[in-house]
Amino acid sequence: MELRRLGITDTEVLSALERVPREAFIPRPFREHAYENSALPINNGQTISQPYIVAYMTQMLEPNQRHKVLEVGTGSGYQAAVLSKLFRRVYSIERYRSLHLEAMQLFEKLKITNITSKLGDGYKGWEEQAPFKHIIVTAAAEDVPGALVDQLDDNGIMIIPVGPESGDQTILKITKDHHGMMAEEELIPVRFVPLLQGLAVES
Ligand code: SAH
Repeated sequence: MELRRLGITDTEVLSALERVPREAFIPRPFREHAYENSALPINNGQTISQPYIVAYMTQMLEPNQRHKVLEVGTGSGYQAAVLSKLFRRVYSIERYRSLHLEAMQLFEKLKITNITSKLGDGYKGWEEQAPFKHIIVTAAAEDVPGALVDQLDDNGIMIIPVGPESGDQTILKITKDHHGMMAEEELIPVRFVPLLQGLAVES
């Protein structure tokens, strides 16, 4: 109801959020807050986005059951699980091994079979599976990674937060038309953890 009031009108998106148990993706100490509209900490100093932002970015991605989607920043796996209800297949990349492994276990436990996830640097995209008609980045980039632009298909949509690590960040909607001509639209101000290059080093 709250998401609807905040302008999430796509009933498929609302239904996808209803069908994914957010508490499963949240570390135990914070689980009681799973259904509040706020971002919460996950491991490795990362965060699971606010439900409104997940719904908003998903809606702007214009989901299509016949298409695949690329997600950069698997994190808890929550956004990927929501996407799995709306796309044919989800390709998701995470740079922390532990987050990647935990998310894979969760997908299995929740019997979600259409997510392919890998440990890697999402800054480089996923060349073997490109091009994508839909790309979503869930960490803030200083600049839009060129590889992701290259891997965006004609008639494609990329949703990506852009801006400095602890400054003003904006969600951009980058589109290509049927000739591959690009256009860019600024959506809403946000606060995301940074998109970093290379794999994360874990102790
Ligand atoms: N979509 C996630 C949000 C997690 S926060 C969720 O629903 O929980 C963003 C994630 O992006 C973090 O886990 C961070 O480690 C990851 N990340 C940052 N830079 C990355 C990169 N270059 N490649 C892959 N993942 C990256």
